[in-house]
Amino acid sequence: MSFSSIRNDFPIFQNQKDLVYLDSAATSLKPQPVIDAVNEYNSSYSANVFRGLYSISEKATLAFERARKKVAEFIGARRVEEVIFTKGTTESINLVAYAWGRMNVERGDEIVTTVMEHHSNFVPWQQLASENGAVLKVIDITNDGTLQILNSKSEAPNKFQILNSKLKEVVTKKTKLVALTHVSNVLGTINPIKEICREVKRLNPRCLVLVDGAQAVPHMKVDVSDIGCDFYAFSGHKMLGPTGIGVLWGRYELLNEMAPFLFGGSMIDKVTLSTTTFKTPPMKFEAGTPPIAEVIGLAAAIDYIQKIGVEKIMAHEKDLLKYAFNRFDDMYHCTVYGPRDLNVRTGVISFNLFTKDKKLIHPHDVAEILQRDNICVRVGHHCTMPLHTRLNIGASVRVSLFIYNSKEDIDRLIDSVKNVRTIFK
Ligand code: PMP
Repeated sequence: MSFSSIRNDFPIFQNQKDLVYLDSAATSLKPQPVIDAVNEYNSSYSANVFRGLYSISEKATLAFERARKKVAEFIGARRVEEVIFTKGTTESINLVAYAWGRMNVERGDEIVTTVMEHHSNFVPWQQLASENGAVLKVIDITNDGTLQILNSKSEAPNKFQILNSKLKEVVTKKTKLVALTHVSNVLGTINPIKEICREVKRLNPRCLVLVDGAQAVPHMKVDVSDIGCDFYAFSGHKMLGPTGIGVLWGRYELLNEMAPFLFGGSMIDKVTLSTTTFKTPPMKFEAGTPPIAEVIGLAAAIDYIQKIGVEKIMAHEKDLLKYAFNRFDDMYHCTVYGPRDLNVRTGVISFNLFTKDKKLIHPHDVAEILQRDNICVRVGHHCTMPLHTRLNIGASVRVSLFIYNSKEDIDRLIDSVKNVRTIFK
């Protein structure tokens, strides 16, 4: 499959002829097979799951559980029961903060996170710490946009060494959880989470690690068993699937010990007037009617990604990233945030433009001019206010690449950015 023909699979490009879509970190476009799978469910077997004894309900249940198996295999889960369907990454992380955090984190305990987190992997821990009297420790970044526990001057390019002395300062015997992102949604930085997990567990074997994989799963091979984390969260809509569906993967023993987060239908074993017992995972955490069409759409998205091949997707994005960086290098008075080493970043490029006398050209003005040329980028703080404060900026322009993007898209972007310059000198 060639990447130029991939665009034909995305009907939005037929409906929006001139579209340059560079905002896939916010949400991805949907290919025809995903749209078809959702339509087929809605038009020919849209029954509820686990309830009906009639054939279309059985068909829906089968498709739903097949999708769970597909997700489990896609992320290397050892057991299919470890895959819990949620609304998205945000809900997955909140589920852990409520169902595990509120039971296990006590006064004086420590939770470690990083300054590059999306709010959905920062605020739940900040709130939990303040409610339960725990201490929130935040790992800073270097000027290069990598975590301050890493040494980027490692011998092997594309590999970081963990600075154990630094990690020891943050992970102690009191640390109950390390919550960090696999890939930054602003800097594009890929954190070496496997190595970090190993070191965290060495320093404190009882400390859990939660990984926010929202920006990783769509763009690289992820194997949760190999990583060695305890929880891993991601969203369907950023990986060519529908909105309203996400995944929480968790180690079965942990999920089994955790109390339910929401109560209601499907998650109970037996209810009497005085007591209720609950099902085992994953059902224990999936109260009520699940997002059935969305789950089926997610399975179709995984099929689509696998048909192209994750390795090929990574290579295509790397090629585009290199091209984009070369074009950005030609741009004067432009700051691109994040690591210079393209081996440790994905196709997310956040930047700001400045006038000749070094005044910031407001990102909203940049986006307004770009959108006149039908170029979609995101501007603002991208739900990472602590990171923007750390970078000493209020907002940035973010370009994010995916399989349907081409070098022509980047050329169109650069032409339009140059046009910004003619307006704001
Ligand atoms: N984490 C990261 C790194 C993200 O980029 C996002 C989405 N911008 C989220 C979490 C939240 O995902 P969702 O809105 O799908 O819950």
